[in-house]
Amino acid sequence: MKLGIVVPCYNEEDVLEETSNRLFSLLIGLIEKGKIENDSRIYFVDDGSRDKTWTLIKESCARDQHFCGIKLAKNRGHQNALLAGLFMARGDALITIDADLQDDIFIVEAMVEAYLNDFDIVYGVRKKRQVDNFFKRFTAELFYKIIRMLTGSDSIDNHADFRLMSRRAIENLKQYKEVNLYLRGLVPLLGFNSKIVYYDREKRYSGESKYPIRRMISLALDAVTSFSVIPLRIITLIGFLTFLGSMSITLWVLWTKYFTNFAIPGWASTVLPMYFLGGVQILCIGVLGEYMGKIYSEVKARPRYIISDMKNF
Ligand code: UDP
Ligand code: MG
Repeated sequence: MKLGIVVPCYNEEDVLEETSNRLFSLLIGLIEKGKIENDSRIYFVDDGSRDKTWTLIKESCARDQHFCGIKLAKNRGHQNALLAGLFMARGDALITIDADLQDDIFIVEAMVEAYLNDFDIVYGVRKKRQVDNFFKRFTAELFYKIIRMLTGSDSIDNHADFRLMSRRAIENLKQYKEVNLYLRGLVPLLGFNSKIVYYDREKRYSGESKYPIRRMISLALDAVTSFSVIPLRIITLIGFLTFLGSMSITLWVLWTKYFTNFAIPGWASTVLPMYFLGGVQILCIGVLGEYMGKIYSEVKARPRYIISDMKNF
């Protein structure tokens, strides 16, 4: 089989040399063992980096034809960079892996074996998260819990975007045109035979996480809004409960007015619901707006990435 390894890179000058060395020896090792063909390739996708990343990629490409480079004209985010790599790279199967060597590259062989045993999708799943700090671990666990709750059991916990996909899985992925991309949610929807391979997650080899809290939130919002309408149903439920509540308050008010003599002009009972309902309404409008924004970007259907340069293609 012909294998392609797709590596998205954003400002990864600190790790790139080590990454390309390690991936190169892995690839050559697999070629020598006869597991994969000699025209297997490593595809670096430069996601509009502002440092020397593209220069380093070009150097690797000049050194050996097993390296290929794709340069995006602008930073489009991890998910779009992955997509660019998946759609441009050649191979009977493609493996996507982060540039920072946090994922165990020796799992690649097990993934290839699973592919040869007729699995179309092989997920790399982390066994434990000891190396991440408490905050990252806590937010990640919360994230997977909420996603699972909102989108059903299809999503796979502790699976980042380290996975193998067969050619036909990738060709079918092309039918999903969404701009708000959440690959971890889309891939299980393809429905092909899949398998999980476990590994230990390492510390980032060098450099800093390119997923600051802002990006983590935006990924989580994409995951929820593009896979679940449950937040919209929650709004309906809140509306319904508020309606029931105001019905019983109406009864109470009428009863107080006509059957008792302590109907003092109520301040608290006027002001409290006002603030409460105002808050609920603004929250609900916010949720609606979130979906509307997503619809807006889907309707525009702008290209998900633009390639400005390619090497060794
Ligand atoms: N990445 C990217 N574009 C971005 C942000 C990140 O291509 O806008 C790449 C990054 O170079 C790395 C991978 O996505 O290869 C995962 O990022 P990172 O390791 O920083 O995330 P973390 O592991 O901390 O979640
Ligand atoms: Mg990382």
